[in-house]
Amino acid sequence: MIIPKSHPRYESLKRREKLVSGIEAGITSLHGLIAHGRGEAFDYLMGEKTLKSALRATEVAAALLLMAKSPVLSVNGNVAALVSREMVHLSELIDAPLEVNLFHRTEERVKRIKELLEREGAKRVLGDKPDSRIPGIEHARALATREGIYTADVVLAPLEDGDRCESLIAMGKKVITIDLNPLSRTSRYATVSIVDDIERALRNLNTIIGEKKERGYEYRDLDALVRGYDNSENLRAVIKELSTRLSELSEASEGGLKE
Ligand code: ATP
Ligand code: MG
Repeated sequence: MIIPKSHPRYESLKRREKLVSGIEAGITSLHGLIAHGRGEAFDYLMGEKTLKSALRATEVAAALLLMAKSPVLSVNGNVAALVSREMVHLSELIDAPLEVNLFHRTEERVKRIKELLEREGAKRVLGDKPDSRIPGIEHARALATREGIYTADVVLAPLEDGDRCESLIAMGKKVITIDLNPLSRTSRYATVSIVDDIERALRNLNTIIGEKKERGYEYRDLDALVRGYDNSENLRAVIKELSTRLSELSEASEGGLKE
């Protein structure tokens, strides 16, 4: 389907097309479509723009990733369909492996996602030969790789499920999530929750990390950024920004609403 650039929902429709292609290519699950729908409803309320508080969380996430000893980037079927290139780029920037980690795991989907990431240039993709389990999680959802998520100190787990996020935190890891729902369990459990669309968040994250690497950075400045951050406080700031926007809209004249 060709979507004209002038369409008011151009970006959103393009994302839906990517997910449908992901289903057709056997990398995205049908459940992933429903999860996306929940996310994009929040994005609509945000005006499909990165909130200030989300950008703040992204800066802290960048610092955490740059300071990590063994960071790992978790990839599921939606992440693969929407931002495989950006995830591979991030893995190069911070020299971290990618690990395919599926909620509705099938070996076929793992294989296809791994192949897609490798086609995008990924050097290290884990997850097809799991050798450990995340404690407290049942069935195939618990599978992890010792070389990757199981021993990582910092995990970027975008569009993650609440239970798994909680279990990773219970293992002592720092977890960065990207989730448009500021009320989800994932957002509440994570060390740093980026409440933003995954494409925008990853682009911002890569730009910030790229700039820091180019200009040089002090470990203690990154550390200060992380120490000065409180995730619950930042989630409250997200909700505040969102409610201010909704109040303004509720008071806008009819013409204002149409804009
Ligand atoms: P939780 O398990 O954390 O309580 P949930 O069960 O509501 O959350 P899941 O289906 O487990 O949700 O996780 C998917 C999450 O990903 C949703 O909260 C949704 O808001 C978010 N999401 C979906 N698509 C995107 C996207 N493109 N960008 C950012 N977040 C997204
Ligand atoms: Mg869930």
